[in-house]
Amino acid sequence: MHDILPADMPAWNQLEDAYRALAESYGYRQIRTPIVEKTALFARSIGEITDIVEKEMYSFEDRNGDSLSLRPENTASVVRAGLQAGLLQDQQHRLWYSGPMFRHERPQKGRYRQFHQLGAETFGIAGADIEAELILLAARLWKRLDLDAIELQINSLGSSRCRQKFRTVLVEYFRDHYQALDEDSQRRLESNPLRILDSKNVEMQNMIEAAPTLQDSLDQESRDHFSELTDILDQTSVPYQVNRRLVRGLDYYCHTVFEWVTDTLGAQGTVCGGGRYDSLVEQLGGKPNYAAGFSMGCERLIAMLHDQGKADSESGCDVYLLMRGENSVARAQQIAESIRDQMPRLELVVHAGAGSFKSQMRKADKSGAQIALILGESEIEAGTVAVKFLRKDEAQAEILQSDVVTQLASLLD
Ligand code: ATP
Ligand code: MG
Repeated sequence: MHDILPADMPAWNQLEDAYRALAESYGYRQIRTPIVEKTALFARSIGEITDIVEKEMYSFEDRNGDSLSLRPENTASVVRAGLQAGLLQDQQHRLWYSGPMFRHERPQKGRYRQFHQLGAETFGIAGADIEAELILLAARLWKRLDLDAIELQINSLGSSRCRQKFRTVLVEYFRDHYQALDEDSQRRLESNPLRILDSKNVEMQNMIEAAPTLQDSLDQESRDHFSELTDILDQTSVPYQVNRRLVRGLDYYCHTVFEWVTDTLGAQGTVCGGGRYDSLVEQLGGKPNYAAGFSMGCERLIAMLHDQGKADSESGCDVYLLMRGENSVARAQQIAESIRDQMPRLELVVHAGAGSFKSQMRKADKSGAQIALILGESEIEAGTVAVKFLRKDEAQAEILQSDVVTQLASLLD
């Protein structure tokens, strides 16, 4: 779990601000849910027989003996919140979220135990048009951030009926290759065979590669749904690859699944994953309702911003106000407050903690400010303030205190 230090924040804000603005421009409304939920919520939604629930959750008993977990993802929480607030019955919703998630994984580049996701969830919309919209939103985010080298992979898992049919075929195939399965996969053979396709075990890749694909089990309705999606992507010029092996790790998906991947981050190349999860609302106790969403990994996207030289960095404040002589401290604060009244967006740092003029000037320089304002006893007497340019070769000027705001506005322009 990592600290995010002040120098890291500009890139984080760049990503989060861009996402917030974009999601709201598409009509998505923000939702925040607690970081802790009942463990049962994740077991019921993500699935008992998944890496996340079996191995990766931070679970503990609270003082009442209830089993709680730090959320490993946010979809289940959003559905729980929506059900609890009565929002999910016969209504359409477009929601977005942002926040930390927790998984006890082996930490490595791009894989952390506390990481952050930006996500979207939609409810009540049956068609592939909403899946396309989610994809278009993500595509536009990459464009806004000027990120290259992110590719879209899509697949259809079909309706739950198709999945059922596929499951039978798959179990048969894996039974024939039982010796090639690792321990986890042998255990999942009956309970969750689709998960085996998602295994990252290199030794199993050839055998997985040769397994039957879902495509042959798709019925007409599922095929139509998928071609509606690809039609929209074609007409909006979003490039994509159909990856028949893409199944996604969580249990609750159906029809469309998609991932945005890059080959520039090493092994942890998925920056965003999502799809349709129509069964989840009912699975968590609600009336059946359509649902689709995605979630993206902030750390991986920020690593890409840095790698591609696109990350914002710290810029420093605009103005540093320093003072000469003890009697100017109160007057300096007074002037600063009146500037702040009139220029709410100005970044103005007032020197604090006394010190010689020379050391104050050093701090002004280090602050990154363009301009130092200097208030000494002689300036107080004359009702003026001295202006010193810290980043360009220009003579120091003396301006009236009553003119400071108008002068600053034009000097910083
Ligand atoms: P992966 O295949 O990389 O394990 P996942 O399928 O477990 O990903 P999801 O549950 O779909 O991931 O989460 C959505 C996104 O969150 C991922 O695409 C990734 O960008 C990010 N993510 C997931 N787990 C981590 C982690 N431990 N550290 C950093 N980012 C993560
Ligand atoms: Mg994972």
